[in-house]
Amino acid sequence: MRVTVIGAGIVGVCTAWSLAESGCEVTVVERNRGVAQETSYGNAGMVAPAYVTPWAAPGMPTKILSMLFAKDTPVRVQPSLDPALWRWVARWLGECRATHYRRNKERMQRLAFYSRDVLTTMRTRHDISYERTEGLLQLMRGERDAAMARNTIAFLKEAGVAHEVLDAAECRVREPGLSDIDFVGGIHLPDGETGNCPLFARHLKNLCEERGVRFEFGTEVDRLSLEGDRIVIELHTTLQRDRRTPDAVVVAAGVSSAALLRSIGVRVPLYPVKGYSASVAIREPTFAPMASVMDEAYKVAIVRMGNRIRIAGTAELGDRTLSLETRGAERAFATLLKVARDWFPGAADYQGASWWVGARPMLPDGPPVVGPTRHRRLFTNLGHGSTGWAMAAGSGRIVADLVTGRTPEIDLDGLTVARYA
Ligand SMILES: Cc1cc2nc3c(=O)[nH]c(=O)nc-3n(C[C@H](O)[C@H](O)[C@H](O)COP(=O)(O)OP(=O)(O)OC[C@H]3O[C@@H](n4cnc5c(N)ncnc54)[C@H](O)[C@@H]3O)c2cc1C
Repeated sequence: MRVTVIGAGIVGVCTAWSLAESGCEVTVVERNRGVAQETSYGNAGMVAPAYVTPWAAPGMPTKILSMLFAKDTPVRVQPSLDPALWRWVARWLGECRATHYRRNKERMQRLAFYSRDVLTTMRTRHDISYERTEGLLQLMRGERDAAMARNTIAFLKEAGVAHEVLDAAECRVREPGLSDIDFVGGIHLPDGETGNCPLFARHLKNLCEERGVRFEFGTEVDRLSLEGDRIVIELHTTLQRDRRTPDAVVVAAGVSSAALLRSIGVRVPLYPVKGYSASVAIREPTFAPMASVMDEAYKVAIVRMGNRIRIAGTAELGDRTLSLETRGAERAFATLLKVARDWFPGAADYQGASWWVGARPMLPDGPPVVGPTRHRRLFTNLGHGSTGWAMAAGSGRIVADLVTGRTPEIDLDGLTVARYA
């Protein structure tokens, strides 16, 4: 079976791998010159299924409103007349109800736990090394964070997820590099891990090529259409235009997926939510994180990646340009630097950080859209939002199973486009 995957982010590469493992003849079409060059490039690298959760949560609208005009805020909404933004916000608000939150969280975690198992098998079977560290420490600055953490702890207990509730001194045993900042404590998730997502994608691309997968870089898909029950892909490179009619097509084009699907009459409420990260060489390992920490007040991750620290977070809606030269970017840098300096002031010379911006492909309810569409030969693997690296291996396997007519290993209830019908 000839299958074309559109997009070589972490989701597309994992999909290509599983398709090749299932015996398909796979072509990956990617507009950039390599794999994982867009949102999969500069993320925080966390694969922590227990931490995977929808952003649409009870109490979140109030929390965001209270922080919207603060100097260092994790969320910014740029004034915009874009109707797609306000439609997305309205749907997101509707999903903040407790019943919806619980339903969406269960769907995301079902996929994330499965994905972690698939990733572990891939890593160990093929000896893939990607600057991996183990354990995630969520840090609570004050009583407000601790109060919100009580719900998290109840959920972890109910779900039987391994965790430890720690006071500040115990957190410092886990992460001796922490500064002498005053804080109330944390939650340690021993099963969480962090790894370099684009490095993993590059290793996997090489393994894909060994299995015959063809990567066509510098090739952009312009639109999709139907010819009988076949999907027609119209694409171009700098030299030529072409049209293809493979046996099946998987759209894994990150934030650009919605426009591509619209061209063939499939609608998904996808919106780009920008985030920023900084990478900086470690100056003194004694004062740097051993693994990953998450500042729960600012929702900023500070993680160890080889001999660098990555600081990642913030959410910006309403401006689709991926530029580092905006007012929003300037304010995001200030927030990320403040958080890094609060917790690990001596770890690095933060002035020398290199900056990155990416757009999370966010759906208002949280879970991605994985699997079939109303066109028999068209499949999706998109909308992984803020946890695409944590879900990519599993969702790639699921799509490969569906394309080749096998039954996926987990229930897909609430994970396909049918939930928007
Ligand atoms: C600041 C930040 C921190 C994050 N931290 C984490 C984290 O700790 N853990 C986690 O799990 N996730 C995290 N994420 C989210 C994660 O990075 C994304 O969910 C994931 O990268 C999405 O992968 P993707 O393959 O769907 O998209 P992308 O990586 O964007 O890949 C899509 C690809 O499709 C290509 N493409 C698009 N349109 C076309 C076209 N028409 N023709 C050809 N090619 C096309 C693009 O060039 C791109 O390469 C974070 C995101 C941000 C912004």
